[in-house]
Amino acid sequence: MDRLSMSVQYVKGVGPKRAAKLRRIGIDTVEDLIYFFPRAYEDRRKFNNIYNSVDGEKASFNVRIAGHPTVLRPRRNLSILKIPIKDSTGIAYLIWFNQEYLADNFRIGEKIIVNGKVKKIANEIQIQNPVYEKEGSSNKKVGRIVPIYQLTENLTNNEMTSIVNNALKSYINNVKEILPRHIINKFNLMSVKEAILNIHFPQSRENFLRARQRLVFEELLTLQLGLFIIKNRTKSNNKGIKFVKSEDLNRFIEKLPFKLTKAQFRVLKEIEKDMESDEQMNRLVQGDVGSGKTVIAILAMFKAWKSGYQSVMMAPTEILATQHFETIKGMLDDYDISCELLVGSLSQNKKDEVLDKLEKGNIDILVGTHAIIQDTVKFNKLGLAITDEQHRFGVSQRAVLSQKGSNPDVLVMTATPIPRTLALILYGDLDISIIDELPPGRKAIETYAIGMNMEKRLTEFIKNQIKEGRQVYIVSPLIEESEILNIEACEELHKRFKNEIFKEFQVELLHGRMKAEEKEKIMNKFKDGEIDILVSTTVIEVGVNVPNSNIMVIYNAERFGLAQLHQLRGRVGRGEYQSYCILINEGKSKISQERMRIMQKTNDGFKISEKDLELRGPGEFFGTRQHGLPDLKIANLFTDIKILKIAQKEASEILSQDLYLSDKKYELMKNRIKCMFEGKTDNIIFN
Ligand code: ADP
Ligand code: MG
Repeated sequence: MDRLSMSVQYVKGVGPKRAAKLRRIGIDTVEDLIYFFPRAYEDRRKFNNIYNSVDGEKASFNVRIAGHPTVLRPRRNLSILKIPIKDSTGIAYLIWFNQEYLADNFRIGEKIIVNGKVKKIANEIQIQNPVYEKEGSSNKKVGRIVPIYQLTENLTNNEMTSIVNNALKSYINNVKEILPRHIINKFNLMSVKEAILNIHFPQSRENFLRARQRLVFEELLTLQLGLFIIKNRTKSNNKGIKFVKSEDLNRFIEKLPFKLTKAQFRVLKEIEKDMESDEQMNRLVQGDVGSGKTVIAILAMFKAWKSGYQSVMMAPTEILATQHFETIKGMLDDYDISCELLVGSLSQNKKDEVLDKLEKGNIDILVGTHAIIQDTVKFNKLGLAITDEQHRFGVSQRAVLSQKGSNPDVLVMTATPIPRTLALILYGDLDISIIDELPPGRKAIETYAIGMNMEKRLTEFIKNQIKEGRQVYIVSPLIEESEILNIEACEELHKRFKNEIFKEFQVELLHGRMKAEEKEKIMNKFKDGEIDILVSTTVIEVGVNVPNSNIMVIYNAERFGLAQLHQLRGRVGRGEYQSYCILINEGKSKISQERMRIMQKTNDGFKISEKDLELRGPGEFFGTRQHGLPDLKIANLFTDIKILKIAQKEASEILSQDLYLSDKKYELMKNRIKCMFEGKTDNIIFN
């Protein structure tokens, strides 16, 4: 048996009890423990002496115990253990709180090394809660770089460190090199054993960096190979529909109220090519807010209709689905295309009617929310499945939608632009088209971050704009996860505006918990210009399109992430009028200041998402789990983007020579890929 897959219980110092604790943080086997990398490090190499010690600074000291311990009890529940120490420069005290039992560990005159934070109180020098080590001890905690692990209940970092140390001593020689020799040579990588030893107990900063680089590369190469292989599989397995070329599509484009941008044309061509080939289309259309993705979707659906197929378009909110439905109906008015809406809040009768017509093939285009992916929804001849605002859905929802037909073409659209390298990872199984151009004549939105003290000036400004005929969105703060509290806050704000500040105008409220008809009524009134100010929660975040509105006010803007602020801002600047985005910022933190600065500086969604990544980290940004990606042990998709690029290039090179990794030198790599994607995908990666 492979010794690395033995239970962690057999590692020296673990045993059944600790093994149970370790299991809680996902460590079952010896291998899990060895690959449980530190989350941080503390450099305890810096030594000082007592005389030169600085208040508040952490350092290591070579000292001797200089006297008997004393215990003080200033309060009940608090004991302070104080042990005098000395070196050749002076005297100080080791201080521990509520750990009296440590007193017995020391003998007067004994030599120890301690590390801790220096506190200068009155004329006394203290080292509080130090870690210490006796001369000649094997478990070195002081005087070097020490690992800091994520901990589990009742297991200290010291204990964890020593367990890992034991595991490495006994089992490091069982770790196998999964990278083939030629790759190790090509990139001059550290050996895997050395890398693992150094990632836990770095001998120097240089060694740590090389160790990390090696392990990150290995992980990203594995990830990317797996994703490329899945992509190839889905491609070669699925014969798709061959849609016909049609001149009518060009005539339809001629009749649009606007000329397509170059970027829209390019993306449309890419889609047409996919649709006309007999391979299944799997394409992501990425374009900043307002770049005109909807019309591209409509053109694709038109094409499907010309070939006699049904299309479906799924949107994340009822408001957006309804809006799409109306846009589509409006544009396709001249054609004999039957279009229906399916959302959760329809009456059962209406739903049944839609479902019946759909199954009989009497509906050509179905638009809806995720109500569309329920089992009861059956198509007659589904040819094209579109997901709008993909970032709001998980991979699995997209998959369910495409399973509604037999290999329909799949188009997903997102306004959350991400760097291409990352898109390859997140949407590794998709081809990517980018609309990198806004329709002409759009004026840059002016963005201002202000404090509540300027609210009065703001309301005056809003009044003037409304008098000019414009309309305004006001987004109420996101208080916390609780939707109910958010709605209450929104209602509060609405009341204040309606009854006081904006008495003379039409002010309405919109939030997610309202009935669908109610929402629709309000959105329609807003579109028709009968409402001046729409106070809302973030339900209007995605997709909503009312070109006459030109002011977006966001209360407590500090509570939103950059991507979300940019999405909200994207609701304005859609028409001919100069638009404004006002961020009311009450946040004092560096991050929120930085966000406001970026929002004021740029309108470019790509730049903003890059910054967002930087400020938040990719985990939170993408919700890697939601995207169905495996958890990464060491690599960080954003900060390791350089290594990611190299790994991507190497992965495609490897696969271009050996698509199934059938050469013996890839055997261990193949196993690693299987482990990484276990349970993550229905695709059989290798058979
Ligand atoms: P998004 O990419 O954010 O989904 P939409 O598809 O909602 O953007 O388009 C935003 C607005 O731009 C809509 O009013 C749409 O009619 C308009 N639009 C789309 N393409 C063009 C174009 N080529 N020229 C002018 N206006 C356009
Ligand atoms: Mg859209």
